[in-house]
Amino acid sequence: MHLYESNPIKIYNSLTGEKEVFKPINAGHVGMYVCGPTVYSKVHLGNVRTFMSFDMVFRYLKHLGYKVRYVRNITDAGHLENDADAGEDKITKKARLEQIEPMEVVQRYTVDFHNILNIFNFLPPSIEPTATGHIIEQIELISAIIENGFAYEVNGSVYFDVHKFNDTHTYGKLSKRKLEDLIHNTRVLDGQSDKRNPQDFALWKKAEPQHIMRWPSPWSDGFPGWHLECTAMSTKYLGEQFDIHGGGMDLKFPHHECEIAQNEAAKGKSPVNYWMHANMLELNGQRMSKSTGNTVNPDELLSGNNPFFSKAFAPGVIRFFTAQSSYRSVLDLTDDGVLASEKGFYRLMDGMGLLNSTKVSRTSTLDVAAWRLKCYAAMNDDFNTPILISHLFEAVKYLNQIKENKASITAKDLEVLKTTMHAFVYDVLGLENSAETNSGNDKLAGAVELLIKLRQEARANKDFALSDQIRDELAEVGIQLKDSKDGTTFSLS
Ligand code: AMP
Ligand code: ZN
Repeated sequence: MHLYESNPIKIYNSLTGEKEVFKPINAGHVGMYVCGPTVYSKVHLGNVRTFMSFDMVFRYLKHLGYKVRYVRNITDAGHLENDADAGEDKITKKARLEQIEPMEVVQRYTVDFHNILNIFNFLPPSIEPTATGHIIEQIELISAIIENGFAYEVNGSVYFDVHKFNDTHTYGKLSKRKLEDLIHNTRVLDGQSDKRNPQDFALWKKAEPQHIMRWPSPWSDGFPGWHLECTAMSTKYLGEQFDIHGGGMDLKFPHHECEIAQNEAAKGKSPVNYWMHANMLELNGQRMSKSTGNTVNPDELLSGNNPFFSKAFAPGVIRFFTAQSSYRSVLDLTDDGVLASEKGFYRLMDGMGLLNSTKVSRTSTLDVAAWRLKCYAAMNDDFNTPILISHLFEAVKYLNQIKENKASITAKDLEVLKTTMHAFVYDVLGLENSAETNSGNDKLAGAVELLIKLRQEARANKDFALSDQIRDELAEVGIQLKDSKDGTTFSLS
């Protein structure tokens, strides 16, 4: 008996706007596709939040015993600066600016992406395909769409005919947009474009002579449109219809809308049963975004080397902060918010530490079996991690009460509590027991505080040579002191 048999999950399906009972196409198996990063710059914490939300979904499905094939792609071609098929390819532009090969850009930022995900204890996906590795599949898809009458070629480029498609299908059903409204809201073309209608989108673009990333095709030497790669790769690895497709909310339109249209036009099938969209991460109340520069990179938050946060935070704290809100809510990253999460994270980890030293009795004062079911119920309700965390804290409170002889637990219940806490904290939320790191941090903080005190004494004695020496030598080993009217604080770089 697998856990999934007794744990029906409800998933909020963006397509229907309702929470629906999850029924995989093949019992016991789940196919999940998540749009991966465009590897032209470092990932920011907003990107990390989205991938982390799906990492927790992946982890929970696996915990329930599903055999999950999780495909998360790497976009290494075709993503133009502008969603309306204009502007330069993001990777080509970076390569031009830095005077390196586009594939060097791709390699650099793919490695960076993987390093960051490792720091945050992500599970690797089952397959991580690249757009450039699937040009043939994309060309085949375009041919099928042309053959079915939903795309046209102009001057070596191929466009999806949204109007024609909408005559027999519904374009806009995911993002709840109507073609008439889109027509009304789109700027009139300036005559430069080959498109029949501004709503049409590129499936293949003919490369300008200077465009380095180019492949031969029946239409021209060129490159595929961005939306197409996900259709090609999801179909190849998960089939024409699969269970879950995820991504950030900002991808719902046009990217995911176009994916649906492409599949329906090529294969006559709606590709995805459950569309999941993670909400945006904000930084101090404003959406985190590469283009506006309102970003914090993971390494800046982990080192404390940034203008927004008062100190450095451990990766587990950021994971915990993320899990404290539902993936469907906007999450605002603030110093106060992360400081509060840090306290909660270490309280939880201290609770995990108590599991090994808790004394057992003949009775339990908490209904542990019911508590365990509540943990599952939380995750079964559209992966509600904040509610799960509130139940985990109930257990931490209970363990502390037992320690203070104000509550008791039987050996059998302690085993259930331990197994359940381990499963949810480590396996599902992916939090690492950084109790050791924490006590290491505490020791470091204690030592630095002592040096700060000695420096203050040196200053009081007007021994500025010694006070400067303490500051400079700490800086040399990566510990920065910050003086303010409230005293001296430190950060790690
Ligand atoms: P990109 O590399 O720009 O294609 O983005 C990779 C993923 O990060 C996509 O799923 C985006 O939806 C997601 N993303 C971008 N900005 C944010 C943000 N501020 N908060 C959450 N997710 C984001
Ligand atoms: Zn995609």
